Amino acid sequence: MKSNKNIGCTVNECKYHAKNESFCSLDHINVVKHMDKAKTPEATDCGSFEVEK
Ligand code: SF4
Repeated sequence: MKSNKNIGCTVNECKYHAKNESFCSLDHINVVKHMDKAKTPEATDCGSFEVEK
């Protein structure tokens, strides 16, 4: 699987993770927030995540 060196990611449960490297394989991801105003890193997330089946 190709890896996008511009998007580092450690979420290897995701089907888009490059697996052998700590990168995403997508060309583009969508980062989202869970609150009206994000004030901590925990308030943000990768909106492109999909669980590996
Ligand atoms: S889609 Fe998001 S969570 Fe999944 S590998 Fe890419 S950056 Fe990580």
